[in-house]
Amino acid sequence: MRKPLIYGNWKMNLDVKQSDDLVRSLLAVKLEHNVVEVGVAPDFCSLSTVAKTIRDMGAPISVAAQNISQHEKGAFTGEVNVDMAMTAGADTVILGHSERRTVFGESDELINEKVRLALRCRLNVILCVGEILGEREAGVHTEKVLYQLGMGLKGVTTDRVGNVVVAYEPVWAIGTGKTATPADAEEMHAAIRKFLSRLYGPVVANKIRILYGGSVKPDNIGALMLRENVDGALVGGASLNADDFIKIINYY
Ligand code: PGA
Repeated sequence: MRKPLIYGNWKMNLDVKQSDDLVRSLLAVKLEHNVVEVGVAPDFCSLSTVAKTIRDMGAPISVAAQNISQHEKGAFTGEVNVDMAMTAGADTVILGHSERRTVFGESDELINEKVRLALRCRLNVILCVGEILGEREAGVHTEKVLYQLGMGLKGVTTDRVGNVVVAYEPVWAIGTGKTATPADAEEMHAAIRKFLSRLYGPVVANKIRILYGGSVKPDNIGALMLRENVDGALVGGASLNADDFIKIINYY
């Protein structure tokens, strides 16, 4: 009942032309949009071009901003607000990505502020959570992930949480070639669903999609997607290559 979602996070890798070429390669292939939902997250400079190309082709591909400011407007040099992201063509924003947390020092409180602002403005949210290697080795990974999730969703009401997708991305698996085993992913996804169920009730929790992220590739997506609570993937590196990303989208 939850439609699988495969999202490409292009991070800071492609210029405008490369981003547009990549989305055109995706659009050239017949994707089964009724079987799997697809989304891409270009950088801010490429976002409007990519969104326009998708719109012109009439394809139901979602477009995400990779970040937004917690501020609505004003003297915030270098920042992009919700309105700017949405008018450029974003329908979604990725928040809480581990790179934002670790490289840019975004706290759980700040991420929560952004989550609430985005949802208030009707921008869908992909909320990323994930433990670092030391936390997994110490056996506190579930605790850590549920803490991040609880903090990220603080103040998010039941009628708004339907616009949230959760992405579980163990930090030790991002860009490292190491993937959590399908069993590890399922264990965490099930714990996340149970936690969401406690917060919002089982009916709402069962509708929320939980993506897996961290070195997802054409050869490991199938096994991950077989798991009951894995509803899709947030793909970094492999989404930069059209052939690989298409293989991942067509995992079934
Ligand atoms: P990766 O990145 O697929 O390159 O590991 C995933 C992510 O950071 O979203």
